[in-house]
Amino acid sequence: MILLTPGPTPVPENIRQAMATETIHHRTPEFEAIFEATRTKLLKLFGMEEVLMLGCSGTGAMEAAVINLCKSKLLFINSGKFGERFGKIAQAYGIPTQELQYGWDTPASVADVEAALKADSSIDAITIQISESAGGLRHPVEAIAKAAKAINPKIKIIADGITAVGVEKIDTTHIDALIAGSQKAFMLPPGLAMIGLSKAAVELVEKEPRGYYFNLASELKSQRKSTTAYTAVTTLIIGLGAVLDEIDAQGGADFLYATTAKRHEATMKALEAIGLSSYPKTPALSMATIFTEESDAIRKVLKNKYAINLAGGQDHLKGKIFRINNMGFIKPYETAWALNSLEMVMAELGKRPYDGTANRVFSEVFYGTAK
Ligand SMILES: *Cc1c(COP(=O)(O)O)cnc(C)c1O
Repeated sequence: MILLTPGPTPVPENIRQAMATETIHHRTPEFEAIFEATRTKLLKLFGMEEVLMLGCSGTGAMEAAVINLCKSKLLFINSGKFGERFGKIAQAYGIPTQELQYGWDTPASVADVEAALKADSSIDAITIQISESAGGLRHPVEAIAKAAKAINPKIKIIADGITAVGVEKIDTTHIDALIAGSQKAFMLPPGLAMIGLSKAAVELVEKEPRGYYFNLASELKSQRKSTTAYTAVTTLIIGLGAVLDEIDAQGGADFLYATTAKRHEATMKALEAIGLSSYPKTPALSMATIFTEESDAIRKVLKNKYAINLAGGQDHLKGKIFRINNMGFIKPYETAWALNSLEMVMAELGKRPYDGTANRVFSEVFYGTAK
């Protein structure tokens, strides 16, 4: 089975091997050396003042960021399940919220954010997804963050990069917390989350720490000393070190970003060539999201006959979209096979005769031979 869901993503064989060693104790010089090396590589990838590794799924890091960086009122951008989640987290802690809601295919507008901030000076933090996985949407986070800081330089921008970090180079100039998760672009099993922090975020966290397990001040104190406040997720941190080495071995982060962008372009062109169109108005590079009433039928045949696992949609998009992963080290022949199989399924469903267009267009665009 080819797992092509936009998280979890497949774990490469050599990374699985790297994690198959004997368990080592986390309070030892051996593990601290691994932690330090991994932290150094992670700081370079994030390009921020600080980075923390937390033993939890991505949502834990979302919670940690909200409670440590929002002290008065949260403006949360909601273009899908994950945007909505930030609001629910704040509400669970009794933090006042204001919502900017959009369709799942629609990016947030800079003007709306500016108007919300001008109307309510108690807003001290904004949450937004860089890539909102619910509809495969890319929000203009960099522009929103810049505009927000122009109105209130102290505002904290919390960016959920769970399907963006490791996918594309992110300009963190105006971002205060950048969140990532192991099971998406990092190609690891679930259970490790990461948060990059700006200098201003570090200052706030240290001045007004909040929470117990998710108290980022205690994590900062420990992780700067190459350890963790509580038992480290040693296996996943060993795996993360191996993934970051593997990214370097395969040409570095910039090469990974370029390959990811190229594969996204080739995938979208192939899908369009067989009559399918993108659901989001501004697609994220992390996945290809297609709107079709036949989504469930297509996914079923793809799985049972062609051994390809794609993701569907949730809530009102259940049965209406399918999503093809574009994160991590995907072999071009895996995407090409998925697209070819998809074209065969379309023929089976009487949509369009099969003539190999999807595979041809993908290959021509990906390898740069398209005229
Ligand atoms: C997967 C995902 C999450 C949630 O992460 P979990 O690891 O499931 O807690 C949050 N935001 C986005 C954009 C995601 O894709």
